[in-house]
Amino acid sequence: MDLVAYVDQVPASGETVTGTAFRQVPGGKGANQAVAAARVGADVAFLGAVGEDAFGEELRANLVDCGIDVSGLRTVPGVSGVAHIVVDGKGGNSIIVVPGANGGVAGVVGGDASVIEGSAALLLQLELPMEAVVSAARTGRELGVPVYLTPAPARELPAELLESVDVLVPNQHEAAAITGRADPREALAALLERVPEVLLTLGGDGSLHGRRGTEAVHVPARRVEAVDTTAAGDTFCGSFAVARAQGRGPEESMRFAAAAAALSVQRHGASSSMPTRDEVEALLG
Ligand code: ADP
Repeated sequence: MDLVAYVDQVPASGETVTGTAFRQVPGGKGANQAVAAARVGADVAFLGAVGEDAFGEELRANLVDCGIDVSGLRTVPGVSGVAHIVVDGKGGNSIIVVPGANGGVAGVVGGDASVIEGSAALLLQLELPMEAVVSAARTGRELGVPVYLTPAPARELPAELLESVDVLVPNQHEAAAITGRADPREALAALLERVPEVLLTLGGDGSLHGRRGTEAVHVPARRVEAVDTTAAGDTFCGSFAVARAQGRGPEESMRFAAAAAALSVQRHGASSSMPTRDEVEALLG
């Protein structure tokens, strides 16, 4: 659950400031990517866990409302995962994720593999324990399902995970944290030594895509007035994966995803800000 405070200037340590608004909206990187993919027309199933609290009920209901199959979503004792988000006057954000129920997810169990089997893509993030992410990535690889990984929150990526990843989708900060290279093209080259395909998002500067042995492709972001960039990357990743699964090439898929993300940053919220396929197609013309 995203607990979002809007403020002109983010407070420094020890400082208290008055915010301008507060919103509670369903979020989570996995759920956001699931909703983004569903909005642009994909059949989506979600694997994960919520707590036995009121947030858990609301998070589950939100996925159901978006037409997402939640047969693989467990309800476990304790609290649901929460993200404490601060949006500043320029539309930028900083986020603290507390895993809650997600922290207890052990890996692919029960009918999870049958949910993954036959899917056009498996989208993973790092808001579950590493062993759960590795287990899911391996299952995807064994079943021949393309595995996407958004390495957020940024952390060390073990080789046993990367060997099952087809497409790594970091933002600029995550790419720099993983590679130690601030320059996006240098970070892209370093990441391509570890995975076959990388989609690096650069906020208002667009996105950069690379595959081993091919030239990197840059697609600019659409020029829009951003009011809230929360989940821009999730919207981008979810819609990119759908476009690719439907047979579009990387560059065309980046344009599709950039249009979806541009629509989302012009509205407040995370999953509630994501556009439908009709809206994206209308913008693409
Ligand atoms: P994250 O949300 O993971 O930090 P980014 O900030 O890199 O991801 O944004 C992902 C994508 O969203 C970008 O590649 C771009 O297409 C779009 N986007 C983000 N910020 C803006 C903006 N200010 N204006 C237009 N598009 C944006």
